[in-house]
Amino acid sequence: MSYQIAIDGPAGAGKSTIAKLVAKEKEFIYVDTGAMYRAMAYYLFSNHIDPKKEALVAEKCMEADITIQYEEGEQVVLLNGKNVNAHLRTEEVGNMASFTSKNPKVRERLTSLQKELASRNNVVMDGRDIGTCVLPKADVKVYLTASPKVRAKRRFDELAAKGETCDIQKIEEDIIKRDEQDMNREIAPLKQAEDAVLIDSSSMTIEEVVKKILSLCR
Ligand code: C5P
Repeated sequence: MSYQIAIDGPAGAGKSTIAKLVAKEKEFIYVDTGAMYRAMAYYLFSNHIDPKKEALVAEKCMEADITIQYEEGEQVVLLNGKNVNAHLRTEEVGNMASFTSKNPKVRERLTSLQKELASRNNVVMDGRDIGTCVLPKADVKVYLTASPKVRAKRRFDELAAKGETCDIQKIEEDIIKRDEQDMNREIAPLKQAEDAVLIDSSSMTIEEVVKKILSLCR
């Protein structure tokens, strides 16, 4: 049986940073499910598909073959065989992913891939529905959150470090809108699993959060 650590939470809560460090410590693989939803959104966007046309999105998503592989411990997302990592971390693709991830066919395709990965490997998997839908029997479940202000500031710093100019107010608005969309969708909405441990990282350091999660692992 594989060992499974599920980390869910809203946008910008620090899930990927924390999950990567926990995976490194445990020597597990890190599965960033958000990147898969982003790759699907990127595919639809590049093919000029209107995300509001649900039937068309359902049809077109079948043409996107999304797989992941690991190069020196880093997750590489392959979209129809091509490495698309460099295109995934923009605000535009993130917002689009939040929209297209509502589509049942999109979720069906990506969820089965995620379940398969976790059945073959010890994983730290992060996303929105990992503890509730993808890995309901995960050994450790964490719901990681922080206040919208703190999350916007972290995203702002991340973008600024990459030399991108951005407006912190707009980032906060986008974050709140994305959370609303993710929490209120019909299928697999973002919510804390009943058996998940809540960690509010607003005033915690990265090291403190990692330590707390490691302490939950048997
Ligand atoms: O975590 P990240 O910001 O990369 O996720 C992008 C979007 O993908 C989220 O806003 C959410 O709508 C969607 N997503 C999802 N289920 C997951 C992971 C991400 O619906 N397990």
